[in-house]
Amino acid sequence: MMFCKCGVEIHPLRVELLKKWNKPLNCINCSVEQKVGGFMTSTGKTERELIISDMDIIDELHQKAARAGTGVSKGVKMRSF
Ligand SMILES: [Zn+2]
Repeated sequence: MMFCKCGVEIHPLRVELLKKWNKPLNCINCSVEQKVGGFMTSTGKTERELIISDMDIIDELHQKAARAGTGVSKGVKMRSF
């Protein structure tokens, strides 16, 4: 489990991508990168979440989703990523 300097836990997938890109490991609140975006996950059968994160990460997630052929859904939870 990784934590930002402010004490907030950083999502494991975010950590993975930040490391891959040699970027500072910080949470969305401390990120000074650029605009944020949203992405709809579909990791579970019924569980769906709207992830808010840096556009770099959102773009990567959209690309992954496009390859996996996942769709969007209603009734999502929000979370920062
Ligand atoms: Zn932080």
